Amino acid sequence: MNLHEYQAKELLKKYNVPVQEGIACSTIAEAEEAYRYINSQYGSRFVVIKAQIHAGGRGKGTIKGKDQRGVAVAKNLEDVKNIAGNILGGTLVTVQTGEAGKLVSKVLVAQDVYYEGPDKTKEIYLSILLDRAKGKNVIMYSTEGGVNIEDVAHDTPEKIFKEWVHPGGALPSFQARKIGFNLGLKGDAFKNCVKFVTNLYSAYVGLDCSMLEINPLFKTSDNKIIAVDCKMNIDDNSLMRHPDVAALRDITEEDPTEVEAAKFNLNFVKLDGNVGCMVNGAGLAMATMDMIKLSGGEPANFLDVGGTANAQTVEAGFRIILKDPKVKAILINIFGGIVRCDRVAQGVIDAYESIGNIEIPIIVRLQGTNAEVAKELIDKSGLKVQSAILLSEAADLVNKAVA
Ligand code: GDP
Ligand code: MG
Repeated sequence: MNLHEYQAKELLKKYNVPVQEGIACSTIAEAEEAYRYINSQYGSRFVVIKAQIHAGGRGKGTIKGKDQRGVAVAKNLEDVKNIAGNILGGTLVTVQTGEAGKLVSKVLVAQDVYYEGPDKTKEIYLSILLDRAKGKNVIMYSTEGGVNIEDVAHDTPEKIFKEWVHPGGALPSFQARKIGFNLGLKGDAFKNCVKFVTNLYSAYVGLDCSMLEINPLFKTSDNKIIAVDCKMNIDDNSLMRHPDVAALRDITEEDPTEVEAAKFNLNFVKLDGNVGCMVNGAGLAMATMDMIKLSGGEPANFLDVGGTANAQTVEAGFRIILKDPKVKAILINIFGGIVRCDRVAQGVIDAYESIGNIEIPIIVRLQGTNAEVAKELIDKSGLKVQSAILLSEAADLVNKAVA
């Protein structure tokens, strides 16, 4: 599950991670009030106004039809009104949103931390994620943080450091110090960085993050170390132990068909092809998608109906797949292990009849317990459903259907 920057920053504060303070606002009036409050509270002359969407690259992205970036500094109340007015209700297009962009319904009005002082400021990159190959968490960091980190990774990968951490406990202090040292920090900045990284690592573990990225992590001119941006991704499987975090889910940012599928406990991921797939078991679903591709087709989705497919789940799956206008054929591939194929076949027939008027061809491949009975049921039903027993046969039928 993804969180918005403003939500992630609130969670970080609970772990004593210093963040650029701000207030999330849904209207221009709220943004004006936030500006006044931030001026009085933090003594910062300026504020920075940041579109809240589940995508990065906002600083370089623009609001459709407007000369407005997704992150902008406001120097006075007039600026606040203009910028918040441009962003709120606008569609922000960034390298990560695709051309369609994302509707912005909230902005974060935050203190400007890029003030001038005795020492140079610095934008650092730092992220924590799981390195599956090594079985450890990895902290990636670089002195070259900011909006061009992708270029740094591509052109000068040696400028990105990695620190692998044993997942069994807190971040050892020698590793936290090594990070501060490699970032070239000294004195108070070094001490603040060590504290920051230690607490951030605790937040990563405590919140069951699958990814936590701070870019930029900022060294202010008076040597504070502050999270200016935050992308936080929470492992969905852990949400049952974080009801407060689960409540932060913003489904308006998610694919509507995926949200609908989740209601029926269907594991659904939308893809770009034209063959809809309905399969029981994630492994079989992956193999089915491979088979479709190998025989020249393109899957329109990944859909695992689970081990206990029945008429209701099959029907829900059908309805979700049919919402995609690109789908030209549906392949149902079920392995009857615990579930009996004849029951699934009956479920398919029932669902087909209850939805009615499905124009596109449907190919059903049932294998396992009672597969023959199931094929007979479908062949006899008189519906425009074609059945196959071998997956290769099914894939051929599908590709003929979409050709
Ligand atoms: P992203 O583009 O979606 O990653 O959004 P960020 O939150 O990282 O902000 C993008 C850029 O805006 C940063 O790299 C900074 O250059 C700039 N920025 C963010 N906060 C401030 C601020 O407080 N003051 C100033 N002057 N610039 C800021
Ligand atoms: Mg950023």
